[in-house]
Amino acid sequence: MTNTDETIANNLAELRAHIHRAARGAGRDPSQITLIAVSKTQDEAAIEEAIAAGQKDFAENRVQEAQSKWPVLKARYPDVKLHLIGPLQTNKLDDALALFDVIHTLDRPRLAEKLAQYATLPPLFVQVNTGEESQKSGIPPREADDFIASCRTRSLAPVGLMCIPPLHEEPSLHFALLAQIAKRNDLVQLSMGMSGDFETAIALGATHIRVGTAIFGTRAG
Ligand SMILES: *Cc1c(COP(=O)(O)O)cnc(C)c1O
Repeated sequence: MTNTDETIANNLAELRAHIHRAARGAGRDPSQITLIAVSKTQDEAAIEEAIAAGQKDFAENRVQEAQSKWPVLKARYPDVKLHLIGPLQTNKLDDALALFDVIHTLDRPRLAEKLAQYATLPPLFVQVNTGEESQKSGIPPREADDFIASCRTRSLAPVGLMCIPPLHEEPSLHFALLAQIAKRNDLVQLSMGMSGDFETAIALGATHIRVGTAIFGTRAG
C-alpha cells in the first residue's frame, strides 16, 4: 500500500485529535503525551512529509537502517528527535549513541554494564518483557525492581519503562503491570501503546506512544 503525502499529514492530524480525546477522557493533559512516529521501513520522502506536518519525534528499531537514513535528515532538521525502539547490540553502541536521542530498549544487565562506561548518555527506558515471551527481549517483571536498582548503582538513571505486549493478549493488563512497576520504582515515564492500542495505553498512563501504521500506512515488509 502506498501513501500520498497528503495521507500522512491527514493521518497525523487525525491521530493528534484521537490522542487529545483519549487524554481528556482519562483526565490527563494531552501535552504530557509524546507521539513518536515509527518510521522503520519508511523512506526519506515519507519521513519528510511527516516532518512538514509538524512531527518532531521519530523512532527506528534497527540501528543499521537508522544509520542509512537519519544522519542526513538530522542535519537537515536539527530539532527532530530520534528514538531507538529495537534491540541494541553492545558492538553498535558508539554508532547508536551518536545518532539516537532517546533509547527505549535497555533490556539486559550486559547492556547496562556497557552503557555505564559512557560519560554522557541519552534518556534511557528499561524494556520490561511483561508477557515473559522467550522471543522478546526485556527484563522479566519479577526482576525489574532489582534491575532498576542495579542501574542506579551504576549511575545509570532510567527515566521510565517500555513494553511491547504480546500480539494476541489484552494489552491493558500489560500496560497496567508496566505502570505498577514504574510507580513503585519512582519512574514517571511510560513508553507504551502502538497503532492498535494507544488509546488504552493513554488511559493507563502512557507518556510516549509509538505509532507507525496509523501514520504511514501498512508496512511492506
Ligand atoms: C513497529 C513498532 C511500533 C509501531 O507499531 P504500529 O503497529 O505500526 O504502530 C511500536 N513499537 C515498536 C517497538 C515497534 O517495533
